[in-house]
Amino acid sequence: MENIAFIALGSNLGNRYDTLIEAIKMLSSDPNIKLVNKSSVYETDPVGYTDQDLFLNMVIEVRTGLSANELLEKCLATELALGRKREIKWGPRTIDLDILTYNQENIETENLTIPHPRILERAFVMIPLIEIKPDLLLAGNEKPVIQHLNELPDKEGVRIWKRKSGEDVFEPIGS
Ligand code: ADP
Ligand code: MG
Repeated sequence: MENIAFIALGSNLGNRYDTLIEAIKMLSSDPNIKLVNKSSVYETDPVGYTDQDLFLNMVIEVRTGLSANELLEKCLATELALGRKREIKWGPRTIDLDILTYNQENIETENLTIPHPRILERAFVMIPLIEIKPDLLLAGNEKPVIQHLNELPDKEGVRIWKRKSGEDVFEPIGS
């Protein structure tokens, strides 16, 4: 299990929190994936296609024996198992699992781009990522992620929802 990957999770359909937790369980039930760390859960305004419900987002760190492609397969299978349907681009989804980084590798294939190309512009990814790994260096970038915080647009669209300690900040009404 020599590889380290960071994965972003997002949900804005159904019971969002339960879906995030279920996705983490499914991923870490694979003998080749071990959960190392997880961020707090954030509630976030939709970006891109904005006429949809608020998201819950978080980031996890895993140690894995899988290749980047195998990890993607596992993420896509988990999305399907949790009932994800692909309809509107960037539209509502029960679960979205994006591989942010895989070691320090740059990967560019038809199915997989790593580091994920929109990390630095998405506050809903950067804020939970910085929470758990402020000194992370993205391949091809000389500054750790924490040093990109000031340039981040839409920070006010990302609000803490459930702290890592387990303490609720907002009542999860309608989650
Ligand atoms: P988005 O996350 O941009 O809303 P989707 O979740 O529908 O889009 O993903 C579409 C495709 O993106 C996946 O089938 C996958 O092949 C591809 N993809 C490319 N790079 C990555 C990555 N780093 N993590 C996850 N999926 C990726
Ligand atoms: Mg995705």
